[in-house]
Amino acid sequence: MMESMTGKVTPRPSSDPGPSPPWRVPTAVYVHIPFCRHHCHYCDFAIATGKNHLKDRYLDAVEAEFTRLGESRPVETWFWGGGTPSELSPEQILRLCQIMRRWVPLNPGGEFSLEVNPDDCDPARLAAMAEGGVTRVSIGVQSFHNATLEFLERRHDPTQVASAVALARQSGIANISLDLIFGSPGQSLELWKRDLQSALEFQPNHFSTYGLTYEKGTPLWKRMTKGDFLPLADDQELSRYELAIDLLEQAGFEHYEVSNFAKPGRRCKHNEVYWANHAYFGAGMGAARYVNGKREVNTRDLDAYLRKSLAGEETAFQSESLSPLEEAKETLGLNLRRQAGARRAEFLQRTGLHLEEIVGSKAEPLVEKGLLIQDMQGVRLTRQGRYLFDWVIGRLF
Ligand code: SF4
Repeated sequence: MMESMTGKVTPRPSSDPGPSPPWRVPTAVYVHIPFCRHHCHYCDFAIATGKNHLKDRYLDAVEAEFTRLGESRPVETWFWGGGTPSELSPEQILRLCQIMRRWVPLNPGGEFSLEVNPDDCDPARLAAMAEGGVTRVSIGVQSFHNATLEFLERRHDPTQVASAVALARQSGIANISLDLIFGSPGQSLELWKRDLQSALEFQPNHFSTYGLTYEKGTPLWKRMTKGDFLPLADDQELSRYELAIDLLEQAGFEHYEVSNFAKPGRRCKHNEVYWANHAYFGAGMGAARYVNGKREVNTRDLDAYLRKSLAGEETAFQSESLSPLEEAKETLGLNLRRQAGARRAEFLQRTGLHLEEIVGSKAEPLVEKGLLIQDMQGVRLTRQGRYLFDWVIGRLF
């Protein structure tokens, strides 16, 4: 580790693919759709409520951002997240697809993912998504338990999940991911098990499961600090995470990333770009992008975003270019989210640094504790290490 702290950079290997490797030139595009009907009290995403009248202007602003690319840049994946992309009308969905086809067309066989809320999934919207080329929907189920949904302030009814899944399939979108949240106060292990079992009945080919977090400043965090409720203890949360891994692996899902599970061949290719620390475009309020080694994040203020983008001004409020050492550390942190971890050859090619230069002696105690594996292939987390991801990353850096 000391050696890595010097910032010494090993020359790139001769296998360097040349001037346009995927960590410099984006192969993925993220578009943020901030509109939500209600601000769920645990959420700290970049969102806007009560602003439906601005949706068309918002698409104008996103188009203006893409126009600044200056030329068409073909990519492999599109991902619309939010906020709530399914809040767009069928016409707006098709318009945004058209804008993106002009500036960032998807290569044949590309992946197009879109996040939807179950109660937005009507036939017209799903038909527009299918017509626009959506190949994959990520449905925000969160729970099948009414009281849990109420606590989370999610507005849908659990029975709407069935119709969302059926409509997506009828529309020809066969690639279905379900999002679940575990660890709400009072959620028993048995209730969480029932959530997982109910979700499995829909036979999706992908799951994202997240532990409820209390982000500072959110209404939920304020309620917790006032003592309105008692959050689950760490070991209770871990037992729910462990149960998810057990049940989903038994059902044939590969736990390919800390929070994600996929049937063979059904990983989210877009998110794999992030975990490889490769480049991506991002457009929309609060969207991040990583192009040619520069990280930028757009303003989270809707009015400022609209004003600046439509005036042809810079929409980013944060911008930084990482040093080779910082980039290598970030690559390791992201790679470790993957089941495959950081692979030696890939890491060297990506960063110009040997894995040992970054990991150094800090790995040894983690290997001894059974949290990390370090071998010929590279460095990866054990199952126990994945439970303690944040802690392990804290020790490594
Ligand atoms: S619907 Fe999703 S993005 Fe919108 S406020 Fe709720 S959790 Fe946040």
